[in-house]
Amino acid sequence: MEAQSNAERHRQRQQKLKEQVDTRVAAATEQKGILIIFTGNGKGKSTAAFGTATRAIGHGKTVGVAQFIKGQWDNGEYNTLHPLGVEFHIMGTGFTWETQNRETDIQAATEVWQESKRMLADARYDLVVLDELTYMLAYHYLDTQEVIDAITNRPSQQSVIVTGRGCHARLLELADTVSELRPVKHAFDSGIQAQAGIDW
Ligand code: ATP
Ligand code: MG
Repeated sequence: MEAQSNAERHRQRQQKLKEQVDTRVAAATEQKGILIIFTGNGKGKSTAAFGTATRAIGHGKTVGVAQFIKGQWDNGEYNTLHPLGVEFHIMGTGFTWETQNRETDIQAATEVWQESKRMLADARYDLVVLDELTYMLAYHYLDTQEVIDAITNRPSQQSVIVTGRGCHARLLELADTVSELRPVKHAFDSGIQAQAGIDW
């Protein structure tokens, strides 16, 4: 008896939930590309971006990638996605906090940005990933207004993903979806080395 009424209550709760979800699904009718931002200090921003890129490729979409601070190590996302036809533009100078030459950093950032701008103006790209772009704005390597204009004026069906800590408020405002990764724990803090296949 008790078990049966529990089952009935569960069924009713699920039914109600389904109705709520169905209503929201029915209300979401607009079809357009979106701007997604993965930010915050926790691990998972770039992996979320490349997870989404992998999904897009799985549906036959065209994806372009700009990586703003990687470059010196071979990275797993490049090794996987480049042979599948994903175009990569990678800043050649390594991590910004390892370099001391602001001028060459700006030049490298600008070169990758020119390629990004071209992809953002081309409707053949379904998805453009701008990995670690936030630092380029924070360091004033790139002009914030120019970046905002290029993203705002992109083709209507094109989606864009921006990753990096400390995202500029104006980009956050422009975004359709923002997830902030929060570090609850990180293996590095217990002395465990970064490793291929997990961290790059
Ligand atoms: P991932 O590429 O693993 O998704 P991420 O893009 O969220 O990480 P970044 O800030 O781009 O993080 O950091 C790049 C590198 O730093 C990765 O090797 C990642 O594992 C490591 N990392 C990320 N978050 C932390 C953290 N809270 N503490 C220490 N190392 C971190
Ligand atoms: Mg990252």
